Amino acid sequence: MNGDFIDALIAAAHSTISDHADELTRLDQAIGDGDHGINLKRGFDALLADREAIAGLGYPEALHKAGMTLVMKVGGASGPLFGSLLMGMAKAAGRGEDLASQLGEGIEMVKKRGKSDVGAKTMLDLLVPVHEALAAGRIDDLPQVADDAVVRTRDMQAMRGRASFLGERSIGHDDPGASSARLLVHAVHRLLGERGIL
Ligand code: ADP
Ligand code: MG
Repeated sequence: MNGDFIDALIAAAHSTISDHADELTRLDQAIGDGDHGINLKRGFDALLADREAIAGLGYPEALHKAGMTLVMKVGGASGPLFGSLLMGMAKAAGRGEDLASQLGEGIEMVKKRGKSDVGAKTMLDLLVPVHEALAAGRIDDLPQVADDAVVRTRDMQAMRGRASFLGERSIGHDDPGASSARLLVHAVHRLLGERGIL
């Protein structure tokens, strides 16, 4: 994994989060405090500003540094969680494991950090099915799996995070964190396809 590719990953992630920041904020206005788009935009702006330094690192170190940046800059609940995802991926990447194993380890870190699991209407409801599809080699299905996963969060009642304060009133809305994770899955999948990596 070379620096040019890491640079392109950061640019792609930044671009989709910027383009959809208002939409993410609207989703968080419905069942949270309306800061999810702003939070993530701040984090990915910081990643973009730091892209040269990050792209100059090896792939595992770059993942770790990007995770730390998200923890520090995104804030809210989602900053430490997206940060944990990348730092967990970095650990597995450091052991030379493949992308599916990296994502698996990242998910374990998110579960631990958030004391959560699937079914609680969070980003995990997106990440876990995407990981299952990736581990099964269903690469072409990833965007669709991500889209379907967000739709499934709509009928769930939030059991974690701010949305859980709404109880049953959290039902009927897409989860903001699952929605932002969906955008990132689309962006990474597109880039890996363009580069002929997947
Ligand atoms: P905050 O809730 O602090 O305002 P954000 O609005 O940035 O933070 O992020 C909200 C998102 O974070 C939710 O939509 C959900 O996907 C995710 N989230 C919140 N708590 C948890 C948790 N314990 N485990 C996993 N994801 C969580
Ligand atoms: Mg919020």
